[in-house]
Amino acid sequence: MKAVYPGSFDPVTYGHIDIIKRSANIVDELVVGILVNNSKKPMFTMEERLYMLRESVKDIPNVTVKTFEGMTIDFARDNGAKVIIRGLRVISDYETEMQIAQVNRSIAPDIETMFLSTGLEYSFLSSTIAKEVAYYDAGVEKLVPPVVATKIKEKFKK
Ligand code: ADP
Repeated sequence: MKAVYPGSFDPVTYGHIDIIKRSANIVDELVVGILVNNSKKPMFTMEERLYMLRESVKDIPNVTVKTFEGMTIDFARDNGAKVIIRGLRVISDYETEMQIAQVNRSIAPDIETMFLSTGLEYSFLSSTIAKEVAYYDAGVEKLVPPVVATKIKEKFKK
């Protein structure tokens, strides 16, 4: 079984890594997809996000990282994946995630969305929170992989 895990990853956090590791245990191959054409204004460029993600998952053999534009279902199809992985943190994630999953299924009934619930210790964690903690220099190392902690601090120094 092959799956894709799409997101903005601006930047990748330990919450994402938890979802990546756990799904890599279930599927044969996992392709993490960084969405290029996103309405959100990212802090990190595509190249920076790609580098940080690749560094963070380099020890997991069945995980690759790519960037993509357009719809997740097309990204899944292009990669021969029948499953889209998403992480659920809090109730508020549920509404939007369910909407996205229903739309995707109506367009592409052959592709399933699979939700993993967040690890409890990461249930509060988002890329936005990580950036805020880094801004106040309040211990971002606990929230993001070392390569991200370094990069994020560099950003705020500038
Ligand atoms: P998007 O902008 O598509 O929501 P994100 O990079 O914020 O992209 O998140 C990608 C996926 O990872 C989403 O399914 C999101 O719910 C999930 N996710 C984000 N943070 C966590 C976390 N701390 N624990 C579990 N899942 C998470």
